[in-house]
Amino acid sequence: MSEFDAAVVGSGPNGLAAAVTLARAGLRVVVYEAAGRLGGGLRGEDLFGTGVVHDICSAVHPMAVASPFFRAFGLAERGVRMLRPEVSYAHPLGGDRAALAWHDLDATCAGLGPDGPRWRALMEPLLSRGQDMVELLLSDMRLPGGLRAAPATAVRTLLMGSRAGYSLFRGEEAPALLAGAAAHVVGPLPSLPGAAVGLLLAQLAHGPGWPLPRGGGPSIVAALADDIRAHGGTLVTGEEVTDLRLLGGVPLVLLDTAPTALPRLAPGRLPAGYLRALRRYRYGPAAGKADFLVSEPIPWAAPGVGRAGTVHLGGTAARIFRQETANARGERGEEPFVLVVDPAVADPARAVGGLRPVWAYAHLPAGSAQDPLPVVRAAIERYAPGFGDTVVAERGMSGADYARYNPNYVGGDIGTGMISLRQSLLRPVPRWNPYRTPLPGVYLCSAATPPGPGVHGMSGFLAARSALRREFGLAAPPLAPTGARGAAL
Ligand SMILES: Cc1cc2nc3c(=O)[nH]c(=O)nc-3n(C[C@H](O)[C@H](O)[C@H](O)COP(=O)(O)OP(=O)(O)OC[C@H]3O[C@@H](n4cnc5c(N)ncnc54)[C@H](O)[C@@H]3O)c2cc1C
Repeated sequence: MSEFDAAVVGSGPNGLAAAVTLARAGLRVVVYEAAGRLGGGLRGEDLFGTGVVHDICSAVHPMAVASPFFRAFGLAERGVRMLRPEVSYAHPLGGDRAALAWHDLDATCAGLGPDGPRWRALMEPLLSRGQDMVELLLSDMRLPGGLRAAPATAVRTLLMGSRAGYSLFRGEEAPALLAGAAAHVVGPLPSLPGAAVGLLLAQLAHGPGWPLPRGGGPSIVAALADDIRAHGGTLVTGEEVTDLRLLGGVPLVLLDTAPTALPRLAPGRLPAGYLRALRRYRYGPAAGKADFLVSEPIPWAAPGVGRAGTVHLGGTAARIFRQETANARGERGEEPFVLVVDPAVADPARAVGGLRPVWAYAHLPAGSAQDPLPVVRAAIERYAPGFGDTVVAERGMSGADYARYNPNYVGGDIGTGMISLRQSLLRPVPRWNPYRTPLPGVYLCSAATPPGPGVHGMSGFLAARSALRREFGLAAPPLAPTGARGAAL
């Protein structure tokens, strides 16, 4: 008999969300994390020994503020301050031209010239049902909530999932704003998954915003870990689980791992049909990350870009479509899509002693071992001449480095699985309950399960809810800070 009721393998946001949910339901929970620190894709580090914290993976959290899990958990009540830049994201187009997704929809439309009314017509119906849209898309993709947002979401997804939808715009700014958000799926574009994710992210830009947690991702990790400990949970770091049999007969196991790790964790125990289905699971292109320590805010050429938390670099929508499609095929392409974040724009305390972090990554072919620093530097320099002169220190992490850093990022795929139409809906394998595995009491809960990548904790929460119901006959518990009143999700 194990001293624990449940073990969670992996401490990314989904593993921690699962552990919170199980511990709050009264289970004795243990979390095993292979790395030296908790947090998975939410870890941060003082990379250059200057007191400046760099987010190693995620940096910007529109999904976290909108997520039903984190809303019920109550980040603000636990002292995690989400700082919202006035421009959610910007998209420079060369020289002094840029498209700006202000938090304020009116300001955004005013900047889009003749396309302003079209952007409003696209966004307003989504915004008016903003939280419903979140519940629809951040669901288990089987019995979603938020159905009131379904008609407006479906129509717009079908429209913007093809070039025809983009041809309704006259200028280059509005299409670039949407294409840049759609590119977060890191796959061929335009596409239906790209449109759904792009519309969700664009809607969030005008709704809750694209905030950064004060101090970076570790503040979210600390809030989750504190809650687990406060409810009797045990957190173990530096402990890679290599075989489920080593977990001492614990009756429930939740895996915040890649699904393709399961055959290694349970050798010879999976039925042939499930193994075949797992072999069909596909990973997507890689991320190549650059962390810079700089002496000045990024000298963007176009006005307003410096007020944005996030900046998308990749040129026009047509160019992004070409580039992302070529990249997904494993070709280098002309101008890799690059995302840039200057956290001190929203959180001035991230700058220490006159130095500030710059976070940036490029979409590169799957498995890429290419040093991303030259590509990312060149992309930023193209839209912010003089950037290179402000760089005091830098570090590159290729896709291959990411795969070593976190086994969930197979081939450098930071989404733990490609976001194709099939894998948006049937993630990781076609099963009614996507979290259950054929092994008794073993569930998957990582970004490889619905609703997919991003820091929202919903895969962990939904897997834990399913396990509580099936294995213990328990309902999901309230998640709000102890002492606060909170309903169950
Ligand atoms: C460069 C980059 C930028 C990103 N930017 C954003 C962003 O701005 N906003 C956003 O919302 N999302 C972003 N993401 C995506 C986001 O970080 C992930 O989708 C999210 O972290 C997935 O959470 P998870 O819990 O499923 O897994 P992960 O966060 O990947 O955590 C999995 C954990 O499990 C551990 N583990 C795996 N196998 C084992 C084992 N056998 N034994 C013990 N431990 C194990 C790993 O070490 C890891 O710590 C980014 C990711 C990267 C890499």
